[in-house]
This record gives sequence, C-alpha cells and structure tokens, in this order.
Amino acid sequence: MAKLYFYYSAMNAGKSTTLLQSSYNYMERGMQVLLFAPCIDDRLGKTAVHSRIGLAQDAIGFDQNTDFFEYVLGVKDSIPNLKCVLIDEVHFLKKEQIKQLTRITNELRFPVLCYGLRSDFKGEPFEGSSYLLAWAEEMVEIKTICHCGKKATMNLRIDPTGAPVEEGNQIQVGGNESYISVCMNHFRSCNKTFSQTNQLQTSESL
Ligand SMILES: [Zn+2]
Repeated sequence: MAKLYFYYSAMNAGKSTTLLQSSYNYMERGMQVLLFAPCIDDRLGKTAVHSRIGLAQDAIGFDQNTDFFEYVLGVKDSIPNLKCVLIDEVHFLKKEQIKQLTRITNELRFPVLCYGLRSDFKGEPFEGSSYLLAWAEEMVEIKTICHCGKKATMNLRIDPTGAPVEEGNQIQVGGNESYISVCMNHFRSCNKTFSQTNQLQTSESL
C-alpha cells in the first residue's frame, strides 16, 4: 500500500544521503523514481540533491507554486515502471502541497518519501513539517548527535565566526556550514530569545 513517509532530523544528520540511497535502491532494481528538490538550493546551476559525503543526483526543482499532484499525474504514464516519489527539503512546502502528497499516495498509489527538518533556527516549526507530522502515515527519525553526546533535535544558525544567530529569515540560502545541530539543552543555552519566551510562558501559566 502506498504511504506518505516523513523522514525527519536536525541539520547535517544525513537526510540527503539517506534519500539518495533509497533512490538508488529503486533504480538498481530497474524501477524509476521522481526526485524533487527546492529550486532555492540550486547553487551549482541546476537543481539536484547533494549529500555531504559527495553523492548527487539531478532533481526536479520545486517552489511554493509547484502542484505535486498535477505534476505526477502529468508525467506518470510517460515514465515506465515509475514506483516512488522522493522529496528533499520538504520543510519548505506549504500546507496545500502536503495535501497534494496525500492525493499522490491515495489516488495515484505511489509511495511518497519526504525528507526534512522539523524546526527552524528559532525553534519554530516549518509549515510543511508541521502538516507532515500531522498527516504522514510513517515517521522515521534520522538521528544525529550534539557535541555533548546527547541526541541533537534542534538547529542553531551560526555566523562565520561560529556565534549563534537568533534573528533573520526562516529560509537562508546557504550551505550546511551555517548550521549546527544541537540538543535542546544546548539550543536553549545558545538561543536566549527562545529561552526567555519559554520562561515568560511558564510564569504566565502559573
Ligand atoms: Zn548538547
């Protein structure tokens, strides 16, 4: 049965590597996949999925106007043995686009494998991820560790000197060198805005 999958993790945990391995597993068996990646990550002139260990595969670029259901519907009959849809950086999707993915699994009967972050550098949930957390039929955590050895679940944005950045746009075109993944304890100690908000909410609720 075709399902909607959400593979989630903090930054630099190997999401793209895991995605490319899944894609390879299909193609090794003579099956075709549709691979999507955001146009905004197009740093090398064409849209592709790049992993930190050097793997890469060309991808179909998407943005916030892409209709995933209509795209797959339009090409599925021209791709022999199409078996799966894979999407990298799925946190950039909008609510309506996640809904389109549920139509791909239910109406077109292709499994959709989504890879992305849960929260941004301020600790706020991404729109696409929050609806995947609500609607995905299978969720898989790709684990990585903080420098202290605990599981890293949060993403810190850092400046070129390595200092934490607390303000700015949710989306920043740039490499993974701008982010480090940390545990909640170290996220709170580095992000004073996040910590202060928590304390205010706590005192208000008492
Ligand atoms: Zn830590």
